[in-house]
Amino acid sequence: MGRVLIIGAGGVGYVVAHKCAQVPDVFTDILLASRTKEKCDKIASGIKRSIQTARVDADNVSELVDLIVSFKPDMIINVALPYQDLHIMDACLKTGVNYLDTANYEPRDKAKFCYSWQWDYHERFKEKGLMALLGSGFDPGVTNVFFAWAKKHHFDRIDELDIIDCNTGDHGYPFATNFNPEINIREITQKGRYFENGKWVETLPMAVSKDFDFPEGIGLRKIYLLYHEELESLIKHFPEIKKAKFWMTFSESYLNHLKVLENVGMTRIDPVMFKGTEIIPLQFLKAILPDPASLGEHTKGRTCIGCLIKGVLAGNEKRYYIYNICNHQDAFSEVGSQAVSYTTGVPAMIGAMMMLTGKWSGKGVFNIEQFDPDPFMEKLNIYGLPWKEIIL
Ligand code: NDP
Repeated sequence: MGRVLIIGAGGVGYVVAHKCAQVPDVFTDILLASRTKEKCDKIASGIKRSIQTARVDADNVSELVDLIVSFKPDMIINVALPYQDLHIMDACLKTGVNYLDTANYEPRDKAKFCYSWQWDYHERFKEKGLMALLGSGFDPGVTNVFFAWAKKHHFDRIDELDIIDCNTGDHGYPFATNFNPEINIREITQKGRYFENGKWVETLPMAVSKDFDFPEGIGLRKIYLLYHEELESLIKHFPEIKKAKFWMTFSESYLNHLKVLENVGMTRIDPVMFKGTEIIPLQFLKAILPDPASLGEHTKGRTCIGCLIKGVLAGNEKRYYIYNICNHQDAFSEVGSQAVSYTTGVPAMIGAMMMLTGKWSGKGVFNIEQFDPDPFMEKLNIYGLPWKEIIL
């Protein structure tokens, strides 16, 4: 049905390649390309079906264009880093190829992420008759679809949203991140931000926390308020929302390590001179931390990510919780990856499937909550991320 070019051979790219390969009638031809071809070859060698591999620098638009012209994909799944988003979108425009990613654009020199840079591409994609689907991971991604599903099937009006991301996983290291350390640490050392009554309210990093009782035996955990990109798009597409917050669990040990690293300057993203060479401390830290793609074998525990929603149905107030639980060891037994990469890679594959099968179509740049949630929700149950809902 379609030829797909996957860019990025990290933890998430590994899962996307495996999951696309499991569905040969949709993903008829697969090319996995990344900065380091050996990583693509290693992933390909673990997949029973034959997939092609290539080296590409996704910051170089003409290199991307050459690769696209030679492989002729129907779409690109971008699971490289947020820095590459705009370059890959430029290459899609030049070659007439559809686009999907899991994280919004971020400039390298400023720890800031927002959708405006990619939303600015809407008219250009529309003029070319192309589609770009932004944020088809878990959060953003499945959480946005959960919201759209709740609005379609459970509420006349939604007033409040809490997205709550819990990871009880233990990888055995004193400190490691479950996805790219540079992107992860940039995200969580920023100020917190939430939306209330038409305004954004800023908080100091990790300054707001509370306990939340997670289902299915996970129990009481401390959750911390963070800013996350899906708040921005959900507020835009569902202006009825009065209050929206994003929360994440962290262990005390993780937060202590992070505080020390911050205090000694290791999370800085400005260049410093070291023995005559310019280095960026956070990039150096990434180089010495465990590779998230290598954590799978030792990680035990579960992720539980979901949306707690308050609103009105038929004149009555309603509270509703929808979530997925993913077991790190189950993800490892299926594809050889921990649950954080798994919960991102599976929705990226499903988003691409929605586009290639024509279940979701459009001309321009879209966030995932703008489409009918039903076919995506059905595929989550089939491809490894079953969800449950509770009326509270
Ligand atoms: P990794 O660091 O493990 O992998 C990133 C991959 O991209 C690496 O293979 C890297 O190459 C490659 N890459 C980096 N720069 C370039 C470039 N210029 N050209 C070509 N390839 C490049 O990250 P993850 O797999 O953990 O994360 C991938 C993406 O998924 C990130 O954008 C992250 O923010 C997003 N994500 C989204 C989530 C969601 O729920 N929405 C959750 C988790 C992650 P090399 O191996 O040579 O370094």
